[in-house]
Amino acid sequence: MTTTLERVRTRVRRAAYARTMAMPIEREHHHGFPVTVTDVVDVTPHYRRLTLAAPQLREYRTLGPDEYFGLVMPQPGQELPDLSRLAGSNLRGALGELPEVERPDLRWYTVRRHRPEAGEVDVEVVTHGDDGPGSSWVRRAQAGQLAGFQTGSSCYRLGSAAGDQVLVADETAFPALCGILEQAGPGVRPHVFLEVPGPGVLPDLTPLAAGLAGTVAVVDRGDRAPGQAVTETLAAADLPAPTFAWACGEKELAASVRRHLVSERGMDKRRVYFCGYWILGRPRG
Ligand SMILES: Cc1cc2nc3c(=O)[nH]c(=O)nc-3n(C[C@H](O)[C@H](O)[C@H](O)COP(=O)(O)OP(=O)(O)OC[C@H]3O[C@@H](n4cnc5c(N)ncnc54)[C@H](O)[C@@H]3O)c2cc1C
Repeated sequence: MTTTLERVRTRVRRAAYARTMAMPIEREHHHGFPVTVTDVVDVTPHYRRLTLAAPQLREYRTLGPDEYFGLVMPQPGQELPDLSRLAGSNLRGALGELPEVERPDLRWYTVRRHRPEAGEVDVEVVTHGDDGPGSSWVRRAQAGQLAGFQTGSSCYRLGSAAGDQVLVADETAFPALCGILEQAGPGVRPHVFLEVPGPGVLPDLTPLAAGLAGTVAVVDRGDRAPGQAVTETLAAADLPAPTFAWACGEKELAASVRRHLVSERGMDKRRVYFCGYWILGRPRG
């Protein structure tokens, strides 16, 4: 049952969403359901595409081009819990109530493509070994395997800011960046700053970038901490005043790009969306 406090919180959140482009779009109702892995493709040695299918994905609708969802990953021998019962917006809290032996892992990924007519989504994941449950599960994923899908939201608002936009991403935000570039529309001139962990990790951005009205800089991280190289490149770039900025990737990358845009370029904080997709040296959860 919804309490008065929850109703007040929802109203305050909605008022904040209405005023800013720096917060996710709110989804009215969340759903959770099982999905089956139906295809696995190694696009590069460290970048896997999984296709997930479920009847519920026929009715499912994304809210924008960087839509994220919760991937619920049962460990070998574990049953997938009944997500229709657990899936409020705080799925992590609900999973935390389960006994540890039954508790699946949860990580967040981008819906790279949605094919409602087929009841399918594609998710593209950059793998980094076995030191996190997400990467480890994706590396072992096989057609026929079951997982859980919890609806999330989108953060990039289509049609809300024409003109010059700054889009900064690393390898984990590459799928979201591609979605934005595909859908942003002709009124947007995107200025893309992509930090890559090395050559050949990501698919080539050139085909997507070819039709863009804006500019593209691809920066190799080398052995520097995530975010340093791309923030320096952005700081040195001669850019028109941006109408909106979106910066996603490792936590410090997102934070340092936002600091630069607000402090050095004078952007309004409400026009800078930023999100730490992972955290160097510890799980993001
Ligand atoms: C909204 C949203 C959308 C996202 N979309 C995508 C997506 O489409 N594709 C995608 O690949 N990722 C995406 N991510 C990032 C993904 O959720 C994280 O990379 C995830 O935390 C990895 O989980 P893990 O269990 O492998 O590692 P964690 O348990 O989070 O971390 C364990 C260890 O691995 C390290 N680690 C985690 N990720 C990386 C990495 N990428 N490179 C090097 N070391 C790492 C951590 O620093 C830590 O030391 C998204 C995240 C968010 C919040």
